[in-house]
Amino acid sequence: MGATSFANALPEQVIETDVLVIGGGISGARAAVEAAGADADVTLVTKGIFGSGTSVGPVVCAAVGPWSTPEDSKELHFEGIVVNGRRFLCDQELAKILADEAPDRLIELESYGHLWDRDEKGDIISFPEFVEEIRLPEESQHYYQNRYISSVRQGRYFGYTGRNVLDVLQAETRRRGVRVFEETTGVRLLTNQGWVVGALALDYLHGCWLIIKAQSTIIATGSISQLWYPWGLASREITGDGVAMAYRVGAIISDLELMMTAYLPCIAPSWSGRHKLLQSVIEFSPNYRPEYQIRWLNAKGEEFLKKYMSEIPQTYEEFYLKVIRGVQNELDEGRGPLYMDYRSLPREFLAEVAPFIIRMMDKLGQKEGDYLLEVGPNPMWSFGGIKVNVHGESSVPGLYACADAANCIKDGLGASVACGVTTCLVSGTRSGRYAAERARSIERLAIDMAEVEETRARARFWLELTNGVAPLLVKLEIGRVMQTYMHLKNEAGMLSALEKLAEIKAEVLPKLVVRSRSRRYNYELVEAFEIENMLDVAQMMVQASLLRKESRRHMFIREDYPHRDDQNWLKHIHIQKVAGEMTLTTVPVEFPYLRPDETGVRPAR
Ligand SMILES: Cc1cc2nc3c(=O)[nH]c(=O)nc-3n(C[C@H](O)[C@H](O)[C@H](O)COP(=O)(O)OP(=O)(O)OC[C@H]3O[C@@H](n4cnc5c(N)ncnc54)[C@H](O)[C@@H]3O)c2cc1C
Repeated sequence: MGATSFANALPEQVIETDVLVIGGGISGARAAVEAAGADADVTLVTKGIFGSGTSVGPVVCAAVGPWSTPEDSKELHFEGIVVNGRRFLCDQELAKILADEAPDRLIELESYGHLWDRDEKGDIISFPEFVEEIRLPEESQHYYQNRYISSVRQGRYFGYTGRNVLDVLQAETRRRGVRVFEETTGVRLLTNQGWVVGALALDYLHGCWLIIKAQSTIIATGSISQLWYPWGLASREITGDGVAMAYRVGAIISDLELMMTAYLPCIAPSWSGRHKLLQSVIEFSPNYRPEYQIRWLNAKGEEFLKKYMSEIPQTYEEFYLKVIRGVQNELDEGRGPLYMDYRSLPREFLAEVAPFIIRMMDKLGQKEGDYLLEVGPNPMWSFGGIKVNVHGESSVPGLYACADAANCIKDGLGASVACGVTTCLVSGTRSGRYAAERARSIERLAIDMAEVEETRARARFWLELTNGVAPLLVKLEIGRVMQTYMHLKNEAGMLSALEKLAEIKAEVLPKLVVRSRSRRYNYELVEAFEIENMLDVAQMMVQASLLRKESRRHMFIREDYPHRDDQNWLKHIHIQKVAGEMTLTTVPVEFPYLRPDETGVRPAR
């Protein structure tokens, strides 16, 4: 079968639904459960397998609940997010909702079949050791309370919280009759006079277009970390599709430049990343001995970070800049790869306290005494995304967004280090509830088949070319640009990044070719769509990073503007497509509850 006839031969299915959810992580699943519970007809499409992806990773959840200490409170949690974590650069309404609603969202999971770790009396128990291990400047200490809970523990270690939460939500979506399409990627939002009225999706498992008409569409496609492909510390589907699709229909994208990158495991493995809990589990183990050391080495076996930390950093921003510079220099100057060195830890000790390390080493074929694990800068999530209000509504009617795909509060380090799951639950619930409410209040609008046809024509074009560039190579090239210029950020580097991205768009994109002729599971076709998204989102990310002329906590570090500038930069950066152009504007932060005082650090109520 020729390429054109192959592309034309892809069948189509038209689906009419009240609420369409794009994305099957914890936030999408929770949104679907809520909307279906409100009697909406719900369809969920997810690029990966439902029940896989980034959301299976989390091990702990943070919220103030019955498990908390008397000195903790929802107010302190909220203040920690705003003051300590974001230094006021956030939407306080969203932060308040998170602190207020998270406990109920966590507890109600048990009614779906989830089990939190409980003591003999039946009370949910928290993890004091998780708090004790976080060593922070004194001004921040009181924000870190013991508010971490996990699924039933695995030996001494946390439970598989994300996996378990996603499992029960998945079962609940089925119980509530949600129509689920796995291995189905949303490729375009469909509009009618500026309103979102559904989406076009590709069911690549069966090779079929889905034309989905919906009154409300919820984007729950996760963050953008695979722009740094393949170094992103999220599942491979997280290529910023939802953000790009929303941008193309005119939605405001906010705070995208604020990014969480796991440099931290390099010196504070307790804070984030894959190894975040290792130090604490090891140190708190009764069998711990002082000679057990985890070190960070370059390829020459040197503890390289010491070199860059000769002077003690005075601010968070200075500290992060030193880490980023250290890691980048070692890699640029050929002393990579960099390693985490577990060689002083005996196998039986690791097996007892951190069995996942043993599993990883076994998979890599590394024997006892040879436990070195390669590490590097791994982008995890953007603090920004599609701008939403407290109902999860974007700036475009009919379009909602939640959790990692939106500008919802995902903190890390501010008040709690584990707001991801709670943000998914709180924002997923709200977007599902209000999307269903909207669906009840309006008629289903017609879709414009010209939009569908335009997108299908692009797929045909990629399939018709016989010579060209394979999508995977372009993804790698975009990843290289981001990895090279968007860790240690400065103006010259970011201008080069923009130039290279524009070059890829102008010269490589038109040559994209999908060689696979398989109707079923044609992942190359999925990747071709991903590339367009990655390029748009990468350009947004670089433009916004160029505009923000400061550094801010762990969220944003510029080599050429190494200090926080509350005077000029307590501003959100909004990105919007206006008359076909990427337009950036700055919008002052609002302070409805807490105001910064003159130092910009302590709140004045
Ligand atoms: C290494 C790591 C450790 C973490 N640890 C914790 C922790 O301990 N505690 C905590 O609370 N949080 C933690 N987090 C954060 C937490 O994992 C995330 O905040 C959360 O999983 C985000 O869920 P989500 O539903 O928004 O997105 P995701 O889980 O990323 O799901 C996105 C979904 O969208 C789908 N998708 C993507 N594009 C498309 C498309 N075009 N069409 C259809 N579907 C699409 C994907 O297949 C996927 O199903 C961690 C994150 C990382 C990276």
